[in-house]
Amino acid sequence: MIKAVFLDRDGTLIYEKPGVYLSDPNQVRLYKSTKPALSLLSKSGFKLFIVSNQSGIGRGYFTAREVNAVHAHLQNLLRPVHINDIVFCPHAPQENCTCRKPLPKLGLELIQKYHIDPTSSYMIGDKKADVQFGHALGCKSVLVTTANGRHHLQKYPDLRPDKVATNLLNAAKFIIADSEQL
Ligand SMILES: [Mg+2]
Ligand SMILES: [Zn+2]
Repeated sequence: MIKAVFLDRDGTLIYEKPGVYLSDPNQVRLYKSTKPALSLLSKSGFKLFIVSNQSGIGRGYFTAREVNAVHAHLQNLLRPVHINDIVFCPHAPQENCTCRKPLPKLGLELIQKYHIDPTSSYMIGDKKADVQFGHALGCKSVLVTTANGRHHLQKYPDLRPDKVATNLLNAAKFIIADSEQL
């Protein structure tokens, strides 16, 4: 069994502009703490997985092919940090699919495929759906207050993430310290 960190993409690893659906690889901008954070997690033995809702596909704004191009560029930017897998839900919310976060399907598939132990794994994201997704998998959830995080923390007082972190690096430091106590 391996330990994993599941990562949201937009507003967690890379800048998210409100109302803008990213489809151009050249618009990918990493937060300053993204690479150091992922590097620390990786060196601490965590495998890294990105789980993203890409409803822009279902809304007809861009194609899965463009999303894959964004992900290829993102993986280049993150080198030498290795992302083990990137999965995404392509559906619009009104399609009522079974794979859109907070539903756990995409995470459960990764857990099975990569023999991940959810009880020693974590989810990091900037939205309510990310926190709920992590908990649905049996992981601890860290809410980063980048992008939507601060707003969602106030809007959903019952959310109760296991940790609130101001950025990805602080999230990574929490996870490493917390995992050493397991
Ligand atoms: Mg996000
Ligand atoms: Zn879906």
